[in-house]
Amino acid sequence: MVNDNEKVFLTEQEAKAAVEIDFRQYGPQPRLYRELSPLILGGSAIVLDQGRHTGVWIKQGRKNTLQPINAHALGDHLCQALQTRAYPLPVLAEICTLTFQVRACPGPDPGDTTRGIWIESDMDDFHCSQCGDCCRGLAYHNDCTEQDYRRWQRLGLTHILERVQVLGANGETKGYRIWVEPGSNRLSPVCPWLREPPGENRCTCLIQDVKPGICTQYPFTRKHAIMTGCRGKFKKQT
Ligand code: SF4
Repeated sequence: MVNDNEKVFLTEQEAKAAVEIDFRQYGPQPRLYRELSPLILGGSAIVLDQGRHTGVWIKQGRKNTLQPINAHALGDHLCQALQTRAYPLPVLAEICTLTFQVRACPGPDPGDTTRGIWIESDMDDFHCSQCGDCCRGLAYHNDCTEQDYRRWQRLGLTHILERVQVLGANGETKGYRIWVEPGSNRLSPVCPWLREPPGENRCTCLIQDVKPGICTQYPFTRKHAIMTGCRGKFKKQT
């Protein structure tokens, strides 16, 4: 993933994974799924928009007959299709646009080595109210990246590194977990870098300049902000 101010480049696989994450983290989104079904499932799905019959019908069973599918199962079905099917990049860009409610278009990465999807977060008018709710409540613990870890190593930030659990076995690193109590693998009950200066009615971050990418990027889109209860403000109306 390449972050270029408010634009992010995703490879085809990263774009599909991001769509799956959206489905899984927010739970069933029936209206969105209806819009996406023709794009993701093609001719194996029919979308009905007729009163109580409104929904998606997919081919199922030995006879391959059309049957209605509930939103929860449809989410899983869409994820399976994303994992197994290939899509032209313009179609994948449209899937991203509908899913993330942002502008997305196909294009080459900054090094011009591979083609993928550019996502515009449209967050330039976002103002964080520094309430700290994201630091306290969101499940970011498994989202520390190798780039984060290597950066802290490069800068010799041992006070941060001692709060990162390196996951893996036999010398193979499989991921990183933040923030643990130093000397143990127990997660800290609250982010250890969060501070609430007395009388200021706002929160600050003790590692603001080197905090993990997941914290820097939050909230990545308006939808992300709304769906996760962010109390920040937008100047522009949506
Ligand atoms: S929840 Fe939103 S407004 Fe509150 S600190 Fe996090 S980003 Fe800022």
